[in-house]
Amino acid sequence: MRASLPYSYKRIPAMRPARALIDLKALRHNYRLAREVSGARALAVVKADAYGHGAVRCAQALEAEADGFAVACIEEALELREAGIRAPILLLEGFFEASELELIERHDLWYVVHSAWQLEAIERARPGKPLTLWLKMDSGMHRVGFFPQDYAAALARLQALPHVAKVVLMSHFARADELDCRRTEEQVAAFEAVRSGLGQTFEVSLRNSPGILGWPSVPSDWVRPGIMLYGATPFEQDHPLADQLRPVMTLESQVISVRELPAGEPVGYGARFVAERPVRVGVVAMGYADGYPRHAPDGAPIFIDGRPSRIMGRVSMDMLTVDLTDLPGAGLGSRVELWGSQVPASRLASLCGSIPYQLFCNLKRVPRVYSDE
Ligand SMILES: *Cc1c(COP(=O)(O)O)cnc(C)c1O
Repeated sequence: MRASLPYSYKRIPAMRPARALIDLKALRHNYRLAREVSGARALAVVKADAYGHGAVRCAQALEAEADGFAVACIEEALELREAGIRAPILLLEGFFEASELELIERHDLWYVVHSAWQLEAIERARPGKPLTLWLKMDSGMHRVGFFPQDYAAALARLQALPHVAKVVLMSHFARADELDCRRTEEQVAAFEAVRSGLGQTFEVSLRNSPGILGWPSVPSDWVRPGIMLYGATPFEQDHPLADQLRPVMTLESQVISVRELPAGEPVGYGARFVAERPVRVGVVAMGYADGYPRHAPDGAPIFIDGRPSRIMGRVSMDMLTVDLTDLPGAGLGSRVELWGSQVPASRLASLCGSIPYQLFCNLKRVPRVYSDE
């Protein structure tokens, strides 16, 4: 397998065996699942470089069928436009400076309006093209958005503007990943109370991945799948729909050194692991500088040549150590899966006090190798 280093100044093949394999077919499968289970149009959320999967390649793989994309900021949107993506792109936090409005217009972007200062800037602007805006309600997340009692007035101000062609009503869930928590229903009720009093119908968008998979009765014209596109479950417990997701990324590397140690010998920084019996230690070319979590505990799962093993000792910057004692066939050059279909990223993340979102976003240095068959 050949891969180019992510460094532009070194156009040589990557010799170090660490790789992130990205399965674009699995990405499309997960996107279709989001649309199918919601019965809604779906904006594929590709912010943060598609959660570490590569925004341009992922958007290109989805463009033929995607209803649109969502990103965090204009820089991310322009990267997609420059790569030739023509589908609608929504800026999830709208603009940060009124000076962005000109670029937003030139590149036909949709954007979220979440604050009074944005509303005022839109009232002052005189765009030459009709705008599609998504007006955000703070139905209980308490981060951004108009409070329910202020929402109808904000909407009326947008509708009074000649250059506003369409407004989609949106909100965002704080606890949709907690399937037995009532907070999501309370947020929906707060949203619906306002919407039902508007005297006019609008398209609505409330659901992120846990909303799509876990809250089927929430009204949706548009859904906003992120983590589920990449095949990781947003839930801590098993869920029948989440089981249908296919992992998109396989983080893999190889064993680059092997040693046998007698009982009582420590492994790695700080001697966190001390052998209780003679052990065979494999050293893997992968570390926290690649994005593998430094907080992985002893015993965290890892697969070597398709067989389960465990981390032993602290994760270092460029290497980590695994237990080969019960895998006599494994050795130098053995293939190691850090996460993927054998080690679900959500399971590893949970053992490390993290979430799969963060594992993916932290990916660095490792070349990505795409497959689409
Ligand atoms: C990031 C984001 C999403 C996607 O969330 P997932 O949990 O990854 O599906 C959806 N909506 C908004 C507003 C977001 O910021």
